[in-house]
Amino acid sequence: MKKSNKETWESLSLFSVIKDRDTINKELNKGLFHLRFSKPVEKAFTNYYFYHSLSLMRISFLLALFIYASFGILDGLVYPEFLKAMWMIRYGVGCPLILAILLYSFYARKEIYLQIVASIGVFAIGITIIIMLMIISSDPSQKYYVGLMLVTFYGYLAVGLRFRYATSAGWAIAIAYFIMSFLLVRPEFHFLISNTFTLFFANLIGMIGNFLFEKSIRRNFLLSNLISIDKEELEKLSITDELTKLANRRYFEDFLDKEWNSAIRYKYPISLLMIDIDFFKNYNDHYGHRAGDECLIKIASALKDFERRHGDLVARYGGEEFMVILSGTDADNGRRIAEEIRKKIMNLKIPHSASTISNVVTVSIGVVTVIPSKNIQKEDIIEAVDKALYQAKSQGRNRTVYVELK
Ligand code: GH3
Ligand code: MG
Ligand code: MG
Repeated sequence: MKKSNKETWESLSLFSVIKDRDTINKELNKGLFHLRFSKPVEKAFTNYYFYHSLSLMRISFLLALFIYASFGILDGLVYPEFLKAMWMIRYGVGCPLILAILLYSFYARKEIYLQIVASIGVFAIGITIIIMLMIISSDPSQKYYVGLMLVTFYGYLAVGLRFRYATSAGWAIAIAYFIMSFLLVRPEFHFLISNTFTLFFANLIGMIGNFLFEKSIRRNFLLSNLISIDKEELEKLSITDELTKLANRRYFEDFLDKEWNSAIRYKYPISLLMIDIDFFKNYNDHYGHRAGDECLIKIASALKDFERRHGDLVARYGGEEFMVILSGTDADNGRRIAEEIRKKIMNLKIPHSASTISNVVTVSIGVVTVIPSKNIQKEDIIEAVDKALYQAKSQGRNRTVYVELK
């Protein structure tokens, strides 16, 4: 299947996720403390976030696994007497858990599922450390309490959890620590107080960091969308004729180039039609330039109907000149379609009292059909169709003339 570049032209409209500038600006102007977008924007953002954070999240899980496993060395150095129990928790529960989350990230169908699973994971790793704290509760200094802080910070700042999930995990760890310590570990009172106190502020700091991070990702998302919209509009502008909204000459040249090459490869004919309005100068002089513009728009829209297949293109080539590319159309059909076009324009019955050949607007059409090959230049066919049009004009206008390309 030949892939036409008109498809590319049409697919330009898929560049940006959110199409309209106002929606984006409204989101941009929401206050500093506002995270969530309105529903459709939030949905687009979630997809964007999932797509952009997934591989980083996986790296983060791997790193977490490495760090968490490395602490096994510390277990041996600091608490050799509890080593077996510690390692059972660390390597029997914690490490497989992180590994499972990492694996899950390859199957997660929705961003929200991965967020939930990862935040539960952060919480569960926090619990393994609290359990270790219980194992070593005979040591009043509770050295592993620091590990809890690390897990909390990691959850907020390194996993890629969104604010609500990071916050849930962080506070759940703090609360679990308080309850489990209070009921089971029973550390000295001043330890319990000061540890809870610092864990509380660790959560606050984590929340601030995570919030600012998410805020800036959301801002990036909005801005990149704005850029996409600009880009899309510019590209469309650069290939569209402003008045008639047909493809412009530049796009025509491009399109013909690609069709030409493809026709050489697959050996199919291309018919090229050059269409020129008869006595259009007179029309402008008689009805005014504005009416002339409107006439061009009407004719353009009638021509557009002849763009029926992928390899077809109707373009505005110059002032009142149009080109029609019909790929895979042989000489007979090219001539037939040219006649159809001529009749269709006449049947628009746009009054033209300044024409000497008719009382409505008519067109003259030059037609060339060629099976492109390496021996024929693309410019040759344009020259030939121009010649055909010239003949149509000199033979009295309102007609189609076909020339053979030699
Ligand atoms: P012929 O039958 O030989 O084609 O005669 P013609 O008067 O159509 O050809 P000519 O090339 O002498 O005039 C073309 C006219 O098309 C001149 C110009 O004023 C008009 N024209 C070109 N572009 C536009 C446009 O964008 N808007 C309007 N209203 N007129 C245009
Ligand atoms: Mg002309
Ligand atoms: Mg003309």
